[in-house]
Amino acid sequence: MGKEIIELLEDLQDVDPCELDHHGNCQAHGWADTVLFPPTRPCPQKRLKEILYKAKTDAVGILHRRYIGDDPERKKSLQEERNKNG
Ligand SMILES: [Zn+2]
Repeated sequence: MGKEIIELLEDLQDVDPCELDHHGNCQAHGWADTVLFPPTRPCPQKRLKEILYKAKTDAVGILHRRYIGDDPERKKSLQEERNKNG
């Protein structure tokens, strides 16, 4: 599910940067916060890019923990493997 959402967000992502007007609404993406004025919710493209960035940096952390991790047994066996090959 998470992976599908990330893929969807990547497809929805616009490469053009936001262009904020003096109200803080995004002219590039036609975004105006209609709930609050002055706008408090940033352009969805900005939020989307932040989510994707966070998801990617989190993913790196998750992979690192999964494959190397904080597990002392795993670290020990990796170290032994390195010593053998080194
Ligand atoms: Zn924008």
